[in-house]
Amino acid sequence: MEGSSGAIGKNMSNQIVQIRAVQLVDGISTSAKTDQAILVTNGRIAAVGPQAEIAKQTPPDAQIVDLGDACLAPGLIDGHTHLSLAGDGRDYVQMFSETDEMMVLTGAMNLQRHLAAGITTIREHGARNRVGFTLKEGLERGYIPGPRTLVSGRPITCTGGHFHMCNETADGEAEMRRSVRRLVHEGADYIKIMASGGGTVGTIPGRASYSVAELHAAVHEAHHFHRLTVAHCRAKESMVRAVEAGIDLMEHAEFLDPDGELRFDPKIAEMMAESGIWISPTLQAWTGYPRIVELRAKRDSDTISADEITELQRLEARAEVRLDVMRRMLDYGLHERIVPGTDSGVGNLAFGHLDYDLQLLVQVGFTPAEALISATRISAEAIGMAGEIGTIAPGKIADIVAFEGDPTNDIDAISRVTAVFQAGQRVK
Ligand SMILES: [Zn+2]
Repeated sequence: MEGSSGAIGKNMSNQIVQIRAVQLVDGISTSAKTDQAILVTNGRIAAVGPQAEIAKQTPPDAQIVDLGDACLAPGLIDGHTHLSLAGDGRDYVQMFSETDEMMVLTGAMNLQRHLAAGITTIREHGARNRVGFTLKEGLERGYIPGPRTLVSGRPITCTGGHFHMCNETADGEAEMRRSVRRLVHEGADYIKIMASGGGTVGTIPGRASYSVAELHAAVHEAHHFHRLTVAHCRAKESMVRAVEAGIDLMEHAEFLDPDGELRFDPKIAEMMAESGIWISPTLQAWTGYPRIVELRAKRDSDTISADEITELQRLEARAEVRLDVMRRMLDYGLHERIVPGTDSGVGNLAFGHLDYDLQLLVQVGFTPAEALISATRISAEAIGMAGEIGTIAPGKIADIVAFEGDPTNDIDAISRVTAVFQAGQRVK
């Protein structure tokens, strides 16, 4: 599919690179292998295996990158970002008062932050006007560094709906089809639909925004153009409709009732499991996790105030309600359908922290190895790029990250990125 970033392709020479380290996680096995090496030719993985074997296949003029006691893994994939928003705690009204030009600059900054954190592929989930497309064009021309980026362009929303300020409003089946056609024509790699209200003033997160027929019209048209679909679904009602309409991936899946309360519904979880829909629970977004991390660090260093202790307790209790819904949903055999996504840009969700979502997946019952696989192999499948990225295997693009420590045993290793490679080229 789309997504292979042109600039990465252009820069890479026919140089042969051997990358080796004491440990390697390939995105398939749940444990790390020791003393492995990867041979990269023309930006793709030619071979992976024990260092002694790979040494025999490595020509004498190859570049050798020895990362010592690091652990190599496939580059991380973030399925949910908003590049044009700064993630600096401002609300939507304030952030969207920026010009498109400033939003492009914000995106350029955010791309670098994500790449430095080992995130080599992202989905850009909706920006205003041409901002998303411009960022992708900048990446492809090699003007700015950043992860391989799949863009939705603008999210499709109903009149006055969530993110209506991005300017892709559609009501009714005919307008849904037209919006999909317009976005595909402008260069959308996939289609994002706001199927419920959200944080945008005037919308109701616990209410659906589209009928099954409207959603289905968009899905049908998108699939006609070989584009996958993603639906923002906070309301229960929207979750049911997204499944019925054949949406490929459901964002948030919060089980919200119209009154704004979270109430798990086993029938909906069963529907989701049977349909095979992908689910991106955006856990750090709902729980306000960056603030929890900040306050816990203060508590651990004894610099926390009495007010902050109260705030931390309140945030932790609120987070637990969301994590409990997630645990109950997972009971329906959904582990292998979960795709982590940061929702970064929104609120206080700064770029560079997919690690937070993986920590939260461990808190709801994933092993560290399963969390890493969800952010690599499973995410690659969900975004339609399983043939190109997501595992360290011959033929795949050599997007590789190195961690200090073994992330299959210690999820905190994901926060300790020591090297990042894009198509075999070291960028950190
Ligand atoms: Zn979002």
